[in-house]
Amino acid sequence: MSIAENLLSIKSTLPEHLTLVAVSKTKPVSDLMQAYDAGQRIFGENKIQEMAEKWEEMPKDIQWQMIGHVQSNKVKFMAPFVNLIHGVDSLKLLQEIDKQAKKNDRTIDCLLQIHIAEEETKFGLNEEELTELLSSTTFHEMKNIKVSGIMGMATFTDNKEQVKKEFTHLKSIFDKLQDSKEENLQPKTLSMGMSGDYQIAIDCGSTMVRIGSSIFGGRN
Ligand SMILES: *Cc1c(COP(=O)(O)O)cnc(C)c1O
Repeated sequence: MSIAENLLSIKSTLPEHLTLVAVSKTKPVSDLMQAYDAGQRIFGENKIQEMAEKWEEMPKDIQWQMIGHVQSNKVKFMAPFVNLIHGVDSLKLLQEIDKQAKKNDRTIDCLLQIHIAEEETKFGLNEEELTELLSSTTFHEMKNIKVSGIMGMATFTDNKEQVKKEFTHLKSIFDKLQDSKEENLQPKTLSMGMSGDYQIAIDCGSTMVRIGSSIFGGRN
C-alpha cells in the first residue's frame, strides 16, 4: 500500500477526537509530501536539525512536533516554529524552552514525559518528580511555556496486559492533573500509542497517537 493509503486507512479507524501525529523521522521530504497531499498536517520528528530542515523545505501550514529526547543547547533551533515538544523530562529543559520561547515572543506547548515502562533506558519523570516539578516556584513563574499534557512510552513487549497496565497508569496520572489551577498547566493532551500499541493506548484513554512505521514503512 502507498503512504497515502496507509494514512487514510489508519485514520478511518481512529475515534474522531483523537490527534494523529505522523512520525516521519529518517524519511525523505518526498515521503512526507505524500502524507501531506493526503491531508496530514501534523508531523513528528526526533532530531531537531532534521525537523528544521524539513520545516524550511515544506509548506508552512504544517505543525511540527518534537517527539525525541531534547538537548538543551539545541532548543534554540526549533523555538521559532515548533508546535509541541513531547519529551520534556526536566525543569532545566523546561527553563531553556521558556527562555527561547520568550526570545521568539511566543508560548511553546510542552508535554512532560513520564516513565511508565519497565525498561531502565527510557527517559521520563516518575510521579514524584512530576509533582515536584509542577509545584516548584520556578515552574510557576514561567510565562512562555504551557504544559498541555503528558506523554509516555510503554514497554516494548508482546504482552498486551503489561502494555495496558502501563497506559492505564499514565491515564491515571493524567486524570489527577486535571485538578490543577496553575495557569501554565492545562493538561488536555495524553500522548500515548505508537504503531505497535496504539489500539491499546486508545482503549486506555489516549488523545494523541504517534505513528511512524505503519504509515511510512520501516526505518533502517
Ligand atoms: C519513533 C517513535 C514513534 C513512532 O514509532 P513507530 O513504531 O514507527 O510507530 C513514536 N514515538 C516516539 C517517541 C518515537 O521515537
